[in-house]
Amino acid sequence: MGTPPLDRSTTWPYENGEPGAFSYARFSSPTVAEAERALGELDGGEALLFASGAAASAAVVLALLSPGQTVALAEGAYYGTSVLLSELGRWGVRRVEFDQTGPPPDEVDLVWIEAPSNPFLTMPDFEAAAAHPATVVCDATAATPLHVKPLERGCDLVLHSATKFLAGHDDALVGAVICRDPETAARLREFRSRTGPVPGPDTAWLLLRGLATLEVRVARQTESARSIAERLNAHPAVEMVRYPGFGGLLSFDVADAGAARRVETGTRLIANMTSLGGVTSRIEARSRWEGARVPPGLLRLSVGLEDAEALWADLAQALEGA
Ligand SMILES: *Cc1c(COP(=O)(O)O)cnc(C)c1O
Repeated sequence: MGTPPLDRSTTWPYENGEPGAFSYARFSSPTVAEAERALGELDGGEALLFASGAAASAAVVLALLSPGQTVALAEGAYYGTSVLLSELGRWGVRRVEFDQTGPPPDEVDLVWIEAPSNPFLTMPDFEAAAAHPATVVCDATAATPLHVKPLERGCDLVLHSATKFLAGHDDALVGAVICRDPETAARLREFRSRTGPVPGPDTAWLLLRGLATLEVRVARQTESARSIAERLNAHPAVEMVRYPGFGGLLSFDVADAGAARRVETGTRLIANMTSLGGVTSRIEARSRWEGARVPPGLLRLSVGLEDAEALWADLAQALEGA
């Protein structure tokens, strides 16, 4: 297949006086639809793109819940999701937190798990979540569909910050929800059309380009991350390492906030910046964003495509100053 076509139109002529597959870009557009087809195939459901992962998360809550209903959120899940639910609390959406390695609490209306959680890297108990009568959404941003397919594990919805591994190059902000049943997909599509958080065609095109290399990128990132996690485990300055055994994301603890600051500012090849899933490696102390929710010495490392030995040499010299 050649390069996917990029159609920047926001409106298309009616066909015999009626709207065709594409009429106005807030509803859908050809490049967005093509990226949705590709992503839907990877995760095994019907995909919808959003303007960001956070926009996708907000749409799930606002489209599927009503005031007075409750979300059970996995403890230690992505900080932004927790902040988003606090924001939506003003509209009457309640939130309880639970340990996702066990069953979700009864009497909730939406179960929100993360596989693996960012930055604690725990995996949910899929069987326990699937047995819950509520709708189950799994944020699989850090796993990608190559390592975890939540719809096959009994979840109703998969959520991705496609900004991370899926687009993969730190140049496209985009989110996705992949639905098991067409009715939920139709409801989310209706909500998205009315409220407007749809990505532009250039963003969808960058996502398609990223998906073309997803498998080779994630395979190499996994290989490097595994070897780095092992060596961190044996390092005297490192108190604990969290790595689920797959993917390019890991976190580890050094003694305290001061040591974490020295390590993150002491690397040269590995950038001191946020986000994850890009082709270049980056490290950051998460307490700058999450405060006391994370240990003060917790560093999150997203492994890119650089030579694994060079990455380790860079980390090792930075750890010397810890
Ligand atoms: C980054 C991230 C999000 C939010 O996605 P954006 O594209 O930044 O809005 C959601 N979940 C996880 C696990 C993330 O890492």
